[in-house]
Amino acid sequence: MAYGFDTLQIHAGARPDPATGARQTPIYQTTAYVFRDAEHAAALFNLQEVGYIYSRLTNPTVAALQERMATLEGGAGAVCCSSGHAAQIMALFPLMQPGCNVVVSTRLYGGSVTQFSQTIKRFGWEAKFVDIDDADAIRAAIDDNTRAIFCESIANPGGHIADLDALAKLADKAGLPLVVDNTSATPYLCRPIEHGATLVVHSMTKFLTGNGTVTGGCVVDSGSFDWTASGKFPSLSEPEPAYHGLKFHETFGPLAFTFHGIAVGLRDLGMTLNPQAAHYTMLGIETLSLRMQRHCENAEKVAGWLEQHSAVDHVTYAGLRSSPYNDRVKTTCPKGAGGLFTVALKGGYDACVKLVDSLELFSHVANLGDTRSLIIHSASTTHRQLTPEQQKAAGAAPDVVRISIGIEDANDLIADLEQALAKAAR
Ligand SMILES: *Cc1c(COP(=O)(O)O)cnc(C)c1O
Repeated sequence: MAYGFDTLQIHAGARPDPATGARQTPIYQTTAYVFRDAEHAAALFNLQEVGYIYSRLTNPTVAALQERMATLEGGAGAVCCSSGHAAQIMALFPLMQPGCNVVVSTRLYGGSVTQFSQTIKRFGWEAKFVDIDDADAIRAAIDDNTRAIFCESIANPGGHIADLDALAKLADKAGLPLVVDNTSATPYLCRPIEHGATLVVHSMTKFLTGNGTVTGGCVVDSGSFDWTASGKFPSLSEPEPAYHGLKFHETFGPLAFTFHGIAVGLRDLGMTLNPQAAHYTMLGIETLSLRMQRHCENAEKVAGWLEQHSAVDHVTYAGLRSSPYNDRVKTTCPKGAGGLFTVALKGGYDACVKLVDSLELFSHVANLGDTRSLIIHSASTTHRQLTPEQQKAAGAAPDVVRISIGIEDANDLIADLEQALAKAAR
């Protein structure tokens, strides 16, 4: 029987504990697991049997979350890891080699722009930044060494929605996986695999956990990409020396990427999610749909109010009719455009800083996707490392603040903004 999203967010991956009957998934606070005997241990180490060896690789609490994430995204499998940034490396690691590149959207979370434009160079990887709405530019950027196309479904923070159907078609024609960061949308608002994406990455730190308690990341694989056909993905198609020449794609089929992520990625990169964090994240996901509905409702009210305010130059929220991406809400995230948007103030940089300092209910933090409403001046913080051109492309120009609308009473949020905008205008 196919359950609805609201049922799956509570039940997927979680069974009563086989040892005790505990209804809530226990936190398996253990590093290692006793082998039945030497033969059992050998079978586990050879990947001939699936089971628990050591918590850098697998842990029952984390496994329950992985199953829940795979189910909610409609994927074949998922690997959880220690943060959203870890998930991005874990997603690219099996695809890339020194000299390879990934074509990425300019409209990304600031930390991702830095990770892709600077840090991955140390692995010999390159990111080619393109306007993800420009199909010709994407095609021109793809070369023989390209291994993936990467974008955000709803971009953080600029209110841009990617045309996932068109991008998936383009990627498919080029024989490349489309990797979508679905952090801002969550699987409640957008399911990239249904639009043709191969991999979905998440910072679970944000809306999935939903209350600003832990960091976590996840890579979900659709299970439908042919890793062998092009010969471009030898980590998945060719013999793996560390496992006696096992070929992941041939052996594990649709679970090849997931098994590789655990057996090689977590084993050797070690960006493991701990069971406590998995527990908090699963508690959060139990109420995901309810929270996302309220995040969207509140964001629409507050963004609509701000748009009319005399101190405001413009608001980029795809849920507003004035947004050039409003049409894509219907096709890509029909339940709503999320809780994130940016506001440009006529008073520029100084007014932004004053606004942030004058708010009482909003918290000035670098996080987003919390039950609490949050604000940040991206140009002086999260997007500080970027060039002015990169800031503008990412929707984080100096006259812009990023707002993450919480699930409080929308009228209280509007009242707080009203008093702070008055102070900022002085
Ligand atoms: C926060 C965020 C990340 C990075 O996630 P961390 O958990 O902070 O490592 C990546 N992408 C998006 C869209 C984000 O909002």
